[in-house]
Parts: sequence; C-alpha cells; structure tokens
Amino acid sequence: MSRPPRHLADLELAERRQAVAELGEREFRADQLSRHYFGRYTDSPEDMTDLPAAVRSALASELLPTLLTSERELACDNGATRKMLWRLHDGALVESVLMKYPDRVTMCVSSQAGCGMGCPFCATGQAGLTRNLSTAEIVAQVVAGERALRPATARPASKTPAPSATSRVSNIVFMGMGEPLANYRSVVAAVRRLTDPVPGGLGISQRSVTVSTVGLVPAIKRLTAEGLSVRLAVSLHAPDDEARDELVPVNRRWKIAEVLSAAWDYAAATGRRVSIEYALIRDVNDQPWRADLLGSLLAGHLVHVNLIPLNPTPGSKWTASRPGVQEEFVRRVAAHGVAVTVRDTRGREIDGACGQLAARAVPARTARAADVTLPDGATALPLA
Ligand code: SAH
Ligand code: SF4
Repeated sequence: MSRPPRHLADLELAERRQAVAELGEREFRADQLSRHYFGRYTDSPEDMTDLPAAVRSALASELLPTLLTSERELACDNGATRKMLWRLHDGALVESVLMKYPDRVTMCVSSQAGCGMGCPFCATGQAGLTRNLSTAEIVAQVVAGERALRPATARPASKTPAPSATSRVSNIVFMGMGEPLANYRSVVAAVRRLTDPVPGGLGISQRSVTVSTVGLVPAIKRLTAEGLSVRLAVSLHAPDDEARDELVPVNRRWKIAEVLSAAWDYAAATGRRVSIEYALIRDVNDQPWRADLLGSLLAGHLVHVNLIPLNPTPGSKWTASRPGVQEEFVRRVAAHGVAVTVRDTRGREIDGACGQLAARAVPARTARAADVTLPDGATALPLA
C-alpha cells in the first residue's frame, strides 16, 4: 500500500496553476493541460500541439502520471456493457463498468481498493480493505470510460459525428468497489472534479451522480452540508436492526433509525429522492412482514426503493428469493405508497466474473428511476 503519484485531477484549478508555476512554467499552461485532460480525455504530450514540445513532456511527466493500467476487460451485448479491471501503481486492482443505453451512458466507479465494511453477502467486503483511492484514481476511471466511447481512429474534424446523448459519460454511480463515504475527502473532491465545468473538471451534471453508502451517519451529515445535488443511495437491506446487524455489520454502530433520519435530512436539504438499496436474500430479508415494515418506515418520505435480486458470491450460503416472493415484496412496499422497482439482473455473467455485482442496475417499471439497466444476452467475453 502506497500513495499514488500526484496528478492534475487531484488538484483544483488554482492549485494546478500554482503547481505549474512551481515547475517554472506560465500559469496558463495549467488551463491548457486541463483542457486536454478534462475536455479531450488525453494525457499524451504528442496530442498537446498548443504547447511547446519541451514544455509538454515536462508538464505531462510531472502532472499526468499513468494511474490505471488495463488488466482485463469483459464485454457483453456487442460492447454496450464493458467491465474494466484496472491495476493501480502499487498493484492493487479495482474495477469499473461502462454501460451504454439508447439515451445515456452510465459509469460505475470504485472508490476504494476492497472495502472494510464486511457485508457478508458482498464479494468486495469479503476481501477486506486494501486502500483508499486518490481523487485522480477515481476521476481517471471516468476519463478511461470517455476514451472508450471514442472511435478508435481519429477522424478529420469535418467527419466527426455531432455529439449525441451517448457519445459521453452522462451518469456516474459510486457502486463499484468500496464504501465511498469511508474515503470521504477523495470522493467529494472527485465529485467536484467530475462535475466542475471544463477546464476545472469533466462537466457532468451533479444530478446525474449517485453516491451509494452503507450508512455512515456522520459522513452523510457532512455530505448534506456540502451543498452538492448528487443523489444519495443508502444500502439498507433490512428494515429491522436484528437482520441489518448481520447483513450490514456497521449497523451495530449506526442503527436504522439514525441512518434514515440522516437520509431524510439529506433529501430535505437537496430536494432529491433518496434511493434505498435492498438486496433480496431468500428467507433472510424477503419475508412479507419485512416488506410491510420497510413500507411503513419509508412511507411519506422522498424516497425510491431499488430491490436487487441477490447475486450470490462464490461459496455463499445465501441465494436470491424464490419466484413469486419478490413480486409479493414489491406489492407490499408499493401498497404503502412507496416507489419501488426491481433492478434488472441482465448482464450478470460479467458481474459474476469479478465476483461482485459491480454494475448496479435499476430497471423496470419506472423508467425514470433507471440509473443503470443491463442489456439482454450478456455473455462474458474476455478481451485482454
Ligand atoms: N459500499 C457502497 C457502494 C458499493 S456496493 C454500498 O454498500 O452502498 C454497491 C451496491 O451493491 C450496494 O447496494 C451493495 O449492497 C450491493 N451489493 C453488494 N454485493 C451484492 C450482491 N452480492 N448482490 C446484490 N447486491 C450487492
Ligand atoms: Fe463494502 Fe458496500 Fe460491499 Fe458492504 S456492500 S462490503 S459497504 S462495498
């Protein structure tokens, strides 16, 4: 475990100008470099023809070190869903998933290598925490996604197709490896870098960013005070503390009532619906009475429930709910007037390939709730 090298994306624009000045260059070079990285997704000196050649290579080697090396890529649906496995400078591995839809492109990113929260149904949790990712390591996953959306060969400007809804990453979900709020500073800085306009950042809308948490109450409160308008997703998985203590061990520290109270404060401060994530596990948390309890806990709040059929990890004693049980669960939660959808399980084969359902999908009945939907006919296809 060691610190990744400093990168442009770790710094705010003013800090980048200062860093460039410290390297003996004019401050506006920081803006030029930033336009290349955040606007054109390039860190290759040869692409930076508006900078003198000697300056380019000096600045690039100091401020644009390579952070991610592709270890493996899995694709399905003719490349519409791509799972990328990255090796970091110290050998740690993280994954991200790029999902293309007709009207949007969603990128699922990791915030930590591993995770220390120990949820027993989660592959990442079973492996424990390796280390926090730096801000730039998080941003670099999205920049890599942007690059992957570009045609492989450069075309003359006149032949460049008009930008479409799917030519850029439009949505980000912090649902890859790690607990984002346990790496608070880097994650919040990454959100700013992803959402600040070019040249400060990538210019993605804050409303299209979802931060998913296991329920670290002090960090949810801190996030509420940031003044961001990102969506908050809370991984609840049980409506009662007895079950949640087992499924989400951090519940022994912050109980359901406290987590939901912090979530409602977040919704009130931002005006945004909180998403409640609930993995349905056969005979563990899928009983009708738990559906009723969940519905009554959430009724009347600015909320949306995402039910996720459990994606069993290798060797897991748990499995997904029996046919019919999920439908009954949905019906009971909805009977309380709570918006609820079941996340699509398509694309599971590539999720399973890396052990965790890193691609967080939502589907189904309310299209506007869908952050991520995986395409049909998913097959694992090792590309590298
Ligand atoms: N640590 C954060 C974000 C990463 S996990 C969190 O827990 O919210 C993203 C989502 O995947 C969470 O809702 C998590 O509960 C869910 N998840 C993890 N393992 C899963 C599995 N085996 N099947 C279904 N969902 C899973
Ligand atoms: Fe960590 Fe989220 Fe997995 Fe729990 S579900 S172990 S918090 S990544």
